[in-house]
Amino acid sequence: MDFEPSETQEQLRSEVRRFANNEIRPVATEYDRAEKYPWDVLEEGAEMGLLAPQIPIEYGGAGYDVLDTAIIIEELFAADPGIGFCLSASGFGTEAIIEYGTDAQKEEFLPPVAAGEAISGAAISEPDVGSDVSSVSTRAEKDGDEWVINGTKMWISNGSVGDFFVVLCKTDPEADGRYNGFSQIIVEADRDGFEAEKITGKLGIRASDTAELLLDDVRVPEENLVGTEGMGFLQQMQFFDATRTGVAAQGVGIAKGAAERALEYSQEREQFGQPIGDFQAIQHKLADMHTELEAARQLTYKSAWEVDSGGSPNTKLASMAKEYASRIAVEAANECVQIHGGSGYVDDFDAERLYRDAKITQIYEGTTEIQKMIIARELQGKGL
Ligand SMILES: Cc1cc2nc3c(=O)[nH]c(=O)nc-3n(C[C@H](O)[C@H](O)[C@H](O)COP(=O)(O)OP(=O)(O)OC[C@H]3O[C@@H](n4cnc5c(N)ncnc54)[C@H](O)[C@@H]3O)c2cc1C
Repeated sequence: MDFEPSETQEQLRSEVRRFANNEIRPVATEYDRAEKYPWDVLEEGAEMGLLAPQIPIEYGGAGYDVLDTAIIIEELFAADPGIGFCLSASGFGTEAIIEYGTDAQKEEFLPPVAAGEAISGAAISEPDVGSDVSSVSTRAEKDGDEWVINGTKMWISNGSVGDFFVVLCKTDPEADGRYNGFSQIIVEADRDGFEAEKITGKLGIRASDTAELLLDDVRVPEENLVGTEGMGFLQQMQFFDATRTGVAAQGVGIAKGAAERALEYSQEREQFGQPIGDFQAIQHKLADMHTELEAARQLTYKSAWEVDSGGSPNTKLASMAKEYASRIAVEAANECVQIHGGSGYVDDFDAERLYRDAKITQIYEGTTEIQKMIIARELQGKGL
């Protein structure tokens, strides 16, 4: 077994870390306070090839694999999860186009995202549909050579800044079987009947954009169907191994950010005439945080490596990585605030922001409860 990242991966890590320390950390509090989308940081990230890292080279992307992407996400989130999310998720939804799209769709939609000239999203959740994706009710009906789409999508990342969305719709309500009759359809934000309402007041990742999408008789050409009609749900499920590994990497990044800041502060802050880091109670917290961080990182990298190897499906491992890394992110951020004492309770220090940001990793891309359900189901050999 070789646990050594390649020279190229180490180089990638240090380049992203340098970018994150210079361009993200200094402005993180400002964007968080204002709930402002970081357009200027995105522009710089595009020059570094950090946007939508998975887009293949022939479509202008960096063509990074899941492990490379995990390293990028880890470093971005260690600096700031809010802006890190905006960069790493600016091409959310393009996985479907890369995997199932026609050549024409790839040529039209991928290069602008890779260049930072367009932003995309994946619209699955609805006001009444979250964990149970198979209840999606947004309806797409064929009318001549167009799809007519009606419904509401909720909590959609990049919703009010995005140029297009891969929308999961019900196309055949009569289809047999719970997972059939869904299709993925590209909807451009400038279509008549499309409206996005930004959601403000989020607990964390406040620089990121989240919106409710209202689709009222939105017409798109039939060529906007991605992949096979009726197979949208199953197509969507294909990406969870990779995207959940991505959220695990977010958790690793947050835990790393928290563990590093806690160590730093514990060496600077003195009480009772000595650095607080010399007290055993604090040393134990630091030891736990750094040990759990390493465990989460190894689980996440193994999941990424398995997806990249393309062998047997790694659904169980991806859910384990997502569940564990998000849990230790929340715990590490909590201890980071604790080690900062009163200073951890205000946004002069990053500890407060990490504490708020960490929680989302236990909610999106399938909650903690859903990950445990998947792990148990896989253990019992029950599958979907
Ligand atoms: C900031 C943010 C960004 C998001 N971005 C996107 C996006 O880009 N695209 C998108 O489509 N969605 C997005 N989401 C939605 C996200 O994926 C959902 O919020 C998540 O899947 C949970 O769904 P829900 O909120 O409807 O909760 P629910 O499904 O209603 O769950 C509520 C609670 O019940 C529990 N629960 C539900 N079912 C079970 C069960 N079978 N067993 C045990 N417990 C259960 C859950 O774990 C949770 O604790 C985003 C959400 C947020 C907050």
